[in-house]
Amino acid sequence: MQHGHTEHDLAAMRAALTLAARGPVANPNPRVGAVVVDRSGQTAGAGFHAGAGTPHAEVVALDEAGDAALGGTAYVTLEPCSHTGRTGPCSEALVAAGVTRVVFAQTDPDPRAGGGADRLRAAGVEVVAGLLEGDAESLNRSWTFAVTHGRPMVTWKIATTLDGRSAAADGTSRWITGETAQADVHDLRAACDAILVGTGTALADDPSLTARHPDGSLRAATPLRVVMGRRDLPPSAQVLDGSSPSVQLRTHDPSVALAALWDKDIRHVLLEGGPTLAAAFVRAGLLDEVVAYVAPALLGSGPSSVGDLGITTTPTPYASISRTSPPSGPTSASARPCAPLSAPPPRRPPPPTPPPPPPPSPPTGPTNPPPTLPPAARSSPHEPA
Ligand code: ZN
Repeated sequence: MQHGHTEHDLAAMRAALTLAARGPVANPNPRVGAVVVDRSGQTAGAGFHAGAGTPHAEVVALDEAGDAALGGTAYVTLEPCSHTGRTGPCSEALVAAGVTRVVFAQTDPDPRAGGGADRLRAAGVEVVAGLLEGDAESLNRSWTFAVTHGRPMVTWKIATTLDGRSAAADGTSRWITGETAQADVHDLRAACDAILVGTGTALADDPSLTARHPDGSLRAATPLRVVMGRRDLPPSAQVLDGSSPSVQLRTHDPSVALAALWDKDIRHVLLEGGPTLAAAFVRAGLLDEVVAYVAPALLGSGPSSVGDLGITTTPTPYASISRTSPPSGPTSASARPCAPLSAPPPRRPPPPTPPPPPPPSPPTGPTNPPPTLPPAARSSPHEPA
């Protein structure tokens, strides 16, 4: 659909995308940028959406442009909405401002908001759709997934040893990943809307589940802390300390939990364990992405990172084993970014055209794999981080 655009259009859309990126990452609303140019091609207004409860990007840009929008072109990273929200439909605002051409990137996947392009065309506005659409989609990756699927996107954070252990036999686990990985986890948490653990993890580890800076202080954007399961937590539990919002979902059903979180405007959930809960999400086919931190260590015993999945033979997607590079540090390795988890549910026949295996994840460290021994064979015993 990328026809009818000029180099000037591309430059203006890139400017709108840059603006959009200034919006909040963790938010029920997408990040959107808008640039309005006047009839001579000069930028007259620009804006971005600063999150739920604030004006849409088009409204901000039109306000700045004022009368200069008359006969001009609006560049928006998302199809202008046609629904009546807090600020009224942006498609109507664009028409009212006298904009005669609208170029947008991503078509709105939200059925409540879509239809803006048709509304604009019906009003006689020239519409160009799909310019740099991929860039706009990746800017709102989890939001796009959530709106398309009608449920929050689920990212599973997993920290394991090379032999897939999440803890030692005595249950201690805090040292499995090092400082670099832990800092990365806090970035990951801050980019999600909710952090989810089971009551087993909450009772055993008493995690705080907050997004913090390296100095230990809380970040400005703190995700909702969610504990899933029926067992009661003690009042002294860290997730109940009031430092950021928390909720307990008294269910064992991942679908029920995700529906409840969707109703709380959660669009991206970070699943942090434990093994039983992770297995429940895998079994339900509700794991969309894995971020794995693999410690170059062997434990030989201790709990597995994921509970029983009922798999008794190697599923087709796992048949080819990809080789990854050694970790970047002595105690931790980040395997981000990860490919979507595309394994079919266990105990079912494979689909007619099984999805391809996940591509090898680019590591953050050296690119040449060692010729013989894995790093764990050379690593020294780990110290608590
Ligand atoms: Zn709007």
